[in-house]
Amino acid sequence: MEKTLVLIKPDAVEQNIIGNIISLYEEANLKVIALKMEKVSRETAETHYKEHKGKVFYQELIDFITRSPICALILEGENCIAKVREINGATKPEEQKPGTIRKKYAKGITENCVHASDSLESSKREIKIWFPNFKGE
Ligand code: ATP
Ligand code: MG
Repeated sequence: MEKTLVLIKPDAVEQNIIGNIISLYEEANLKVIALKMEKVSRETAETHYKEHKGKVFYQELIDFITRSPICALILEGENCIAKVREINGATKPEEQKPGTIRKKYAKGITENCVHASDSLESSKREIKIWFPNFKGE
């Protein structure tokens, strides 16, 4: 079964909406199969966001994701990589559809509440970063 890696980012944890966010995934028939909370080290943040190294927003992104605890989850379900990206909403605020998590709760392009893997390859890479002991494809 397909899996994806989700991060509930510091701004969402600070807003007390972990439960609201997880409910939206569960209502879409996706199953939480791993879950943890932690304050992210710069090293892990830099590994996770390595594709963005050198971009103008990179330092701001690393500062943000490391400022207070996040919640990391593995979700499982049919077509869950695309489904979760849809539920989360677009990266650009002007493209976020009503009802998406980012449209409802994001404060801007940086503080956008959630991360989700964008491909099967990314999900495999990211699951290894956040849940190195997770067994099962
Ligand atoms: P995420 O990877 O966090 O799920 P995403 O896949 O929608 O978000 P990416 O292109 O992977 O977007 O960018 C990663 C993060 O970098 C975004 O969530 C956002 O916070 C930040 N970001 C992306 N583009 C910009 C930009 N043009 N200006 C400022 N921040 C940006
Ligand atoms: Mg991304």
